[in-house]
Formats: sequence, C-alpha cells, structure tokens
Amino acid sequence: MGSEDLVCASCSGLVIEGRCPTCRASREYLRRSSPLSPQLLFTIIAIIMVLAALAARHAS
Ligand SMILES: [Zn+2]
Repeated sequence: MGSEDLVCASCSGLVIEGRCPTCRASREYLRRSSPLSPQLLFTIIAIIMVLAALAARHAS
C-alpha cells in the first residue's frame, strides 16, 4: 500500500501519526477508501466457509 509513508502537507509529519486535523482526516479517508479492509476480508472468508460447509453437507 505505502499509505504509512505519506507526509502531511500541513505539519510535514507522517499522516499515520495523526499530528494535526489534516493528518487525521487523511488517515480516515485512506482507511475508508481501502478496497479490502480487514472487516470486508473477514466477511468474505466467513461467506466462503459457510458455502464450503454447505457443499460438504451436500456431498456426503
Ligand atoms: Zn498533519
């Protein structure tokens, strides 16, 4: 990703450290715009596990 290395234009600090409101806003935006968030990954894995369980039940 490389979002950890982003430098803030307002305070010249790392955005991930959230030193100023701009940092925190950018950090929130990056977190929200991430295409595969941990929650989404967990949901996908849970759905796959349910489908696999159903398939195994039908196979036996
Ligand atoms: Zn900043």
